[in-house]
Amino acid sequence: MGKTVLITGGNRGIGQQLARVLASDGWDVLIGARDPARGKATATRLRKETGGRLKAVELDVTSDASVATCVQKLRDGAIKLDALVNNAGVFGTARGADGVARTIETNLFGALRVTLGVLPLLCDGATVTNVTSGLGELSNLDAEHRRRLADPALTRDALVAMMHDFVRGGGKGWGTDAYGVSKAALNALTRILAAELAPRQIKVNATCPGWVRTDMGGRNAPRSVEEGADSVRFGVTATATGGIFRDGRRIAP
Ligand code: NAP
Repeated sequence: MGKTVLITGGNRGIGQQLARVLASDGWDVLIGARDPARGKATATRLRKETGGRLKAVELDVTSDASVATCVQKLRDGAIKLDALVNNAGVFGTARGADGVARTIETNLFGALRVTLGVLPLLCDGATVTNVTSGLGELSNLDAEHRRRLADPALTRDALVAMMHDFVRGGGKGWGTDAYGVSKAALNALTRILAAELAPRQIKVNATCPGWVRTDMGGRNAPRSVEEGADSVRFGVTATATGGIFRDGRRIAP
């Protein structure tokens, strides 16, 4: 039996390309998609294209109920996961408080919600890959928040509280926008989860695809979706933990 990976936001963009590559490599691929019809269409197309094993599973990373239903379905199917890729993300959502909340809810809390939800299904030694961005580099933040996110003593609860404060404050005062903050916080979460899950040898890393030609990245981005997915894929079989990587090389947090 092949190894199984769950990719959130797997119905288009980098997530879809990663699904294509991993299925071609013999992985059993679960395409997480908030719209079940789009997820199904992608799985059907990639099955034809690759001859691989792909299935769609409905998963809205911003919804506790959706994550719980997805986990229950996997449990019912006696599915264990060898890898999780927290790829679902939004960029440049509607401005204002709603946009800030949605960005943090999807890019940061979504990754946390899904990771904690599937934890009982993750095999010991599995990998968790959080898809990050260069825009989340700490150097983009003001000095105070840079210091707080980089603090090795930062706990998960303290990080979550800090991000709720950020949303309550309308996304102001961190020196960068909600997208940058969401990815900087995702990098901090990666470090924290890596330590928490080390006793089970679960490796947690963040991988950056670079600036990629997708719906999100736009037509003028310098990198192809193949290059972006390849950079993300490094995390799926990583032996290190707690790192941030682009193209398999460590980058600044
Ligand atoms: P994309 O083409 O816009 O695709 C985003 C994916 O995320 C879609 O499948 C979308 O589903 C899904 N998604 C959004 N909100 C969701 C939710 N609440 N629940 C489940 N799925 C949700 O973006 P991309 O370029 O492939 O980006 C993938 C990841 O790479 C993101 O985390 C992004 O931040 C990161 N990244 C991208 C770039 C770049 O240049 N493209 C650079 C750095 C990092 P729907 O189809 O239902 O909307």
